[in-house]
Amino acid sequence: MLRHPDEMSGGIGPRNLSMRKKFIAGNWKMNTSSISAEMLASGVVKGLGSETRVDVAVCPPFPFLARVAQVVKGTHVALGAQNCYPKDEGAFTGEVSPPMLVDIGCQLVFVGHSERRQIFKETDAFINNKVHAALKAKLKVILCIGETLDERKANLTETVLDTQLTGSLANITSALLKNMVLAYEPVWAIGTGVNATPLQAQDAHAFVRNRVGQLCGESAAQSLIIQYGGSVKPDNAADLLCQPDVDGALVGGASLRPEDFLGIVRAGIR
Ligand code: PEP
Repeated sequence: MLRHPDEMSGGIGPRNLSMRKKFIAGNWKMNTSSISAEMLASGVVKGLGSETRVDVAVCPPFPFLARVAQVVKGTHVALGAQNCYPKDEGAFTGEVSPPMLVDIGCQLVFVGHSERRQIFKETDAFINNKVHAALKAKLKVILCIGETLDERKANLTETVLDTQLTGSLANITSALLKNMVLAYEPVWAIGTGVNATPLQAQDAHAFVRNRVGQLCGESAAQSLIIQYGGSVKPDNAADLLCQPDVDGALVGGASLRPEDFLGIVRAGIR
């Protein structure tokens, strides 16, 4: 089960390059109903069984978190939220705080998903505030970064990743980084059916790990789980997950069917 390292010895993965444990997370986005969310979570729980060679999380919409929390309680499936607001409480109508997420059983939260950056105009500074607020509440953070198609075509991929990392990881120490996961998600691959090639993913992940090492410390960067996200399916997962710096997958569309999601999970088992 995936927990904040302060709560257990170890965290989600061992602390060296060769032993990073694969981590597959499902982003259900604004999909499911209370009934279908429960059924989907049950399917994942049953399919995963006692498997612990890979870490697994499901991330339902806010209204169904409490219900899914009951389904995954005591299993090897962790529960995550898709967003949070960077304050503990107060006059922020419609928002949800990190302590509230912990209260209903969440262990992790996404921050900086490209849909939040693009549709809701979230900046790296705001994302950085969320990272700190979520970590303070003892949630694990999956920080998402990635370039658009125009940026890739203009050879700006590394510049964009550098800017996003520098801004989103401001004042993140090596100790705090241990409670984080990064997700490299090229925007052009999200929901398009066009995934990055394994080589494109590996190149970006190696760049990200190197840059995180400069920002937060080399040792913490070597232990960091970096997921790839963008049209991961059961039939392309193994090729992506066998790349040396690809430590897991953040899965959107294919996380909505237990058999597809579990197919990706199985691809993560070496
Ligand atoms: C995502 O939402 O983070 C994602 C990667 O979606 P998809 O798998 O559908 O491309």
